[in-house]
Amino acid sequence: MAHALDLPVAEMARRVRDPRDPLTARVLVDESLRRIEALDGRVKAFLHVAPDLARAQAGAVDAAVTAGRDPGPLAGVPLAVKDNLEVAGLPLTCASRMLAGYVAPRDATAVARAVAAGCCVVGKANLDEFAMGSSTENSAFGPTRNPHDLARVPGGSSGGSAAAVAARMVPLALGSDTGGSIRQPAALTGLVGFKPSYGRVSRSGLVAFASSLDQVGPLARSVEDAALLFRAMRGHDALDATTRRDVEAACPLPSLAGLRVGRVAELELGERPDAGTAAALARARAALAGAGAHEVELSIPLAGAAGLPIYYIVAPAEASSNLARFDGIRYGLRVPGEGLEGLYAATRGQGFGAEVQRRILVGTFVLSAGYADAYYKRAMAARQALAAALEQAFTQADVLLTATTPTPAFRLGEKASDPLAMYLCDALTVPANLAGVPAISLPAGVDAQGLPIGLQLWARAGADEALLAAAAAVERLLATPSPLPALAREVGA
Ligand code: GLN
Repeated sequence: MAHALDLPVAEMARRVRDPRDPLTARVLVDESLRRIEALDGRVKAFLHVAPDLARAQAGAVDAAVTAGRDPGPLAGVPLAVKDNLEVAGLPLTCASRMLAGYVAPRDATAVARAVAAGCCVVGKANLDEFAMGSSTENSAFGPTRNPHDLARVPGGSSGGSAAAVAARMVPLALGSDTGGSIRQPAALTGLVGFKPSYGRVSRSGLVAFASSLDQVGPLARSVEDAALLFRAMRGHDALDATTRRDVEAACPLPSLAGLRVGRVAELELGERPDAGTAAALARARAALAGAGAHEVELSIPLAGAAGLPIYYIVAPAEASSNLARFDGIRYGLRVPGEGLEGLYAATRGQGFGAEVQRRILVGTFVLSAGYADAYYKRAMAARQALAAALEQAFTQADVLLTATTPTPAFRLGEKASDPLAMYLCDALTVPANLAGVPAISLPAGVDAQGLPIGLQLWARAGADEALLAAAAAVERLLATPSPLPALAREVGA
C-alpha cells in the first residue's frame, strides 16, 4: 500500500481516530497538498488550494483525538469542494468572471456537515461556469483535464471534483448534479458518483442553477466511500425547505439473486453504440444474470427522446430566474454603463460566458408571455408524466441499469463549438433529475484505449440507502474497481 491516503476512507478515518496509531489528519492533508502541488499544474482540477484552512481543520481533528473526543467518521479525510458550494473564507467563483474575487461568508450545509464529520477542505474544484456544461470547458478560468488522458475532458460540470479524486489528489469530493454533473464526470474518470434523491441533501449554500433539479452529492473511489460522505451530509435542514424529513436506515447488502433489474428500451445506447460502453453493459448484464438477478424489460417513452427537451426547457427557465441576482449591484463584477440598464447589460454581457448567456436567453424566452404555455407549461406537464411513469416502473423493478454516458471521455475541443452535441452527453442522466430519483454511476472497467466506462443504477425516490446497498453488491460482482491513472503513480498512489 502506497500511502494511507489511498486506503478506503473508513480505514483512513479509523486510523486517525485511534490515538495509538501514528497516522494523523495532518499527515493526510500534507500528502494531499503534496500531490496537488505535483500534479495539478497539468490536471487543473483546482481553482483554489487552501493549505491554511486544511491544516487548521486537520489540527482540530488531531487535537480532538489527543483530548479523547471523537472527531467523526471522516476524521482527517481531505475533501475537494466544487466551487459552486460555499466554504467560509474561501473564494466562491462558480468558474465565472461574474464572481471573480467573491469570498463566501459561510459554509454550505453540506460542507459544514462534512467538516463536522472530520473532513478537511483542501480546495475549491473547477467546474463549468455555474455548473452549465458536460466537459468543464465552460470554466472562465480554463478547462480541467482527464487524469487518464490529458488530451481529453473529465466530463462536467463537476469535472474538477472528479479529476481531483481520479488523480488521487483527494479521496473524496463534493459535486452538484442538475442533469448529470456528478455521474457523468464520475463515469468519464473511473469513479463512483452519487446523485441522491431530490431533497435528501441540503442545497443551502449551493449556488442555484435549477433549484428543482439541483442535488449535492459525493464523488469517490468506491460505493462505501461515497456512502460515508453522503451519510455525513444528508437530512433535514432548516435552511432548505425542500429537504426531506424522513430518515432511511442503512440497508444490508442485498442478495443479487432475485433482484429485479429494469432495462429501459428508451435508455439503451442506440443504433451505433460505442463498442466499449456496449461491451461493459453486456458484461454487467451477464454477471447479474449469473448471480440470479432478473432482467425486467420496460418501456418509458418520456425517458427517451423527450428527456433532453424537457430538461433544456425547465433547467434554463429556472436558471434565468436564479441568475437574475447577478446584476452588478449585489455581487461580484460591476461594469459601468449608461444608467442602471446600461450597467446591467455591460456587467452581464461581460461577466457571463457564452453558454450561460445562451441558457438565460432560452430560459427567458420559454417563460415569456405568449410562449410559457407552449414551452414551459408543456415541459412541466411532461416532467410530471415522466416522474409518474418512473414510479410505475419501480413497481416492476427494484433498480434500473443503464450506461451513464453514450461514450467515454472525448477530446478537449471536440464538442465545444456544438452545444447540441454537448447536451446529448446527458441523455442517460437527466431523467433521474427530472423525476427526483436517486442514481449512482459505478466504474465498469476501461475500453480498448484505456478510457474508463461507467454504468448507472437508479432507484425509486427516497430509496437512497437501498440504492447504495445494491450498488455495493454490483460493485463487488463486477470487480472493476476505480482504475488508477498512470499520472497518479508518479506521486506514489
Ligand atoms: N450538462 C448538463 C447541463 O449542462 C447538466 C449540468 C449539471 O448537472 N449541473 O445542464
